[in-house]
Amino acid sequence: MKPLNDVIAACPPSGIRRFFDIAAEMDDVISLGVGEPDFVTPWRVREAGIYALEQGYTTYTSNAGLPRLRELICADLGRRYGADYDPDTECLITTGVSEGLDLALRVLLNPGDEVIVPEPCYVAYEPCVAFAGGTPVRVPTRWEDGFAVDADVVAAAITPRTKAILLGSPANPTGAVQPRAALEALVRLAEQHDLYLVSDEIYDRLTYTGGHTCLGTLPGARERTVLLGGFSKAHAMTGWRVGWICAPAPVADLAVRVHQYTMLCAPHVSQLAAVEALSAPDDEVDAMVADYDRRRRVFVKGLRETGLECPEPGGAFYAFPSIRSSGLDSETFAERLLHAEHVAVVAGSVFGPSGEGHVRCSYATALPLLEEALVRIDRFLRAEEGH
Ligand code: PLP
Repeated sequence: MKPLNDVIAACPPSGIRRFFDIAAEMDDVISLGVGEPDFVTPWRVREAGIYALEQGYTTYTSNAGLPRLRELICADLGRRYGADYDPDTECLITTGVSEGLDLALRVLLNPGDEVIVPEPCYVAYEPCVAFAGGTPVRVPTRWEDGFAVDADVVAAAITPRTKAILLGSPANPTGAVQPRAALEALVRLAEQHDLYLVSDEIYDRLTYTGGHTCLGTLPGARERTVLLGGFSKAHAMTGWRVGWICAPAPVADLAVRVHQYTMLCAPHVSQLAAVEALSAPDDEVDAMVADYDRRRRVFVKGLRETGLECPEPGGAFYAFPSIRSSGLDSETFAERLLHAEHVAVVAGSVFGPSGEGHVRCSYATALPLLEEALVRIDRFLRAEEGH
């Protein structure tokens, strides 16, 4: 047989999935592993989906997505961040941010173009760059700096082939929210070297210690920024598969062109549910965010009481404690914790070399389970000390 695609074959299997296959076979596991809200989609949004089905909205939509949804997204970005995107020419609806990321990179990259990816980062970033024919170039961030991206470190990685910088804020896996000054420095760098910025802002509504900076609204950024957002996290809509791209018209136009040959459109019923999600008052999303924040405080404090150092996560729903004091590498830590105490966390090394020495714990988990997980983690650490 002829060999299959080299780029895809070179992609390592997901470190997260392998681990959770093991956890799925075990009893009494508390999973802090999955990056998914534990809330069900708010009822009025589900009801809108049911109603859409009853009404027979079972067809394709236009490739760019429902005009009403695009209008609501652009209006929401305007209200929240002062962004100014034209729903007709600068916005398209995607099948989750996952598709938005894939489309953005395919539209921007020519074979061999380099994309700078600050890490630790979301597991899909590097494979998606590679699938689009590009070369991911990692740059480290440090937990001592709150995982802020250092423009000097990025500058040192720029070559004539660099096309874009890809980053997420608030971030998976660290929960870090990039300080405005760090983002401004990146925009200046992008201007100097004529680079695109791909900004994954899927967690924009989940911030706890200060507001979110929308990259596309920074001076000089708009014309070179591809903004990715979606409904999965803040609206607890992971399974509906709705996201969006907002970008300057030439980029958005090309993205629609690729989309029309690949996905065609995001699911019609899901787009109608998303219309309801953005038409509803903010209170249900705010209540979920307040709940994450309560859990975040309890969990981070509890982790610190076990003796683990834990940087303050300002956004998303992840804590990323340092496990260096245990003397274990992150994969061994995660495996031993799972086998000894049936608590599933994700080894930090899965998210890039700078993630080594940490584990990712999702606190999108009910408070009593988080409290029990803390008891188990504490017991695990005491037992490890005794070895
Ligand atoms: N971007 C980040 C940073 C994520 O953490 C995730 C999901 O975990 C995604 C994108 C994918 O989101 P979606 O469900 O919209 O495809």
